[in-house]
Parts: sequence; C-alpha cells; structure tokens
Amino acid sequence: MKGSSEEYRVVFSRRRTLSLSVNGAGEIVVRAPAGTRRAEIERFIEAHTDWIERRRAVIEASHIDLTDGAKIGIGGEVYPIAEGRSAHLADGRLYLPAERREQALIALLKRIARERMTAYAREYAARFGFVFRAIRISSARGRWGSCNARGDLAFSFRTALLDEEKARYLVVHELCHTRHMDHSPAFWTEVGAILPNYRQTRRALQKEGAIMLFL
Ligand SMILES: [Zn+2]
Repeated sequence: MKGSSEEYRVVFSRRRTLSLSVNGAGEIVVRAPAGTRRAEIERFIEAHTDWIERRRAVIEASHIDLTDGAKIGIGGEVYPIAEGRSAHLADGRLYLPAERREQALIALLKRIARERMTAYAREYAARFGFVFRAIRISSARGRWGSCNARGDLAFSFRTALLDEEKARYLVVHELCHTRHMDHSPAFWTEVGAILPNYRQTRRALQKEGAIMLFL
C-alpha cells in the first residue's frame, strides 16, 4: 500500500479521536470527529501502514480455501475436502456439496460444536456438580464463549475447529462462570482445580485468534 493513495472509507461522528480498522474485505475504515480534514486522515493512515498490513495478512490467512483437495482442521484433525451430496465428515475427509460450500460448512460446524460442547458440559456437570440450563451455538465473532446468570452457556460455532483440549477448556471456563461471574482469583482456582494445565491451554488458544475471522 502507498499511504495516502490507499482507498479508505471515513465515518464521521461526534467522537473526539481518530480510529482505524480493516474490515473483512480488507478495506480501511477510519472513524473521525466531524470536520476532520482529509490531509489529517491521510497522515493518520500513513502513520499506521504497518499495522494495516499486519491486519490484512491476518484477514487474508483466514480466508479458507474450500475447493476439492484443500485441507481444513476440524476438532484438531486435518481433513481434505471432497465433493459429496451433503456436508459431513467420513473416512478422514470433509465432504461438501458442489454449491454454497461455505453455508454448508457453517451448518456442519454448528452441529459439531453443539454436540461436542454439550457432551463436555454434561460430563463436567456430572463430575463437578455444575448446573447449567441450555447451550446455544453463536455466530458472533470476537468471543469463544459466554455465560449468563441464568446458566445459559453460548459457544461460537468456530469452536468446532479447535482441538479437544482447547474446546474442553472453553467449556470448563464457562461452567466456572456459573459459580463466579468474573475473572477473580476464586474463578481461576476453580478452573485450575479441574484443568491443572489451563494456563498453557489458554495461551495456545490466544494464538488461534485468526479462526475467529473464519467464515
Ligand atoms: Zn470468562
């Protein structure tokens, strides 16, 4: 990119500072106080060239290839993609229909996430006496899981892509929120009593951020 010659979109509002983001299509979006001059906006973009490039690299890497023969990691296993009548996993392959592959894959991941997270939650509830109400699978980006005071757990369908250790950690994390609605030392003690290696898993999970931009 060449700084100010770069295409960008400006959203003016009553804010007081400039901010920058790169959307899923790789476009630069600048939020600016009403009346900010173009030259100032372009200087701001130029000053953040490296950051913009890094964001684009992450977004680029997260655009998955769903053509026949491409590979995708689901539940910690790598599956080559092949054409099939419906989206399903069989004989070490991910079968996807010829058309609308992305939608078919998302529907499959939602099913996988629901089954897996429900099974883990029931297992930990039985072993450690947690009480939860329902499990919802969400499409929201930016968070792997959440929990409300009524005991409803929610997990991103993208958790289906994670390996077992990370998925189990997310379930334990949200179940522990049914007892501690914060990240207090008491909360982490509870998590650690169930998963002694949770710190390592948590760090490994932080490196999977690009999955959040998937699909
Ligand atoms: Zn939490």
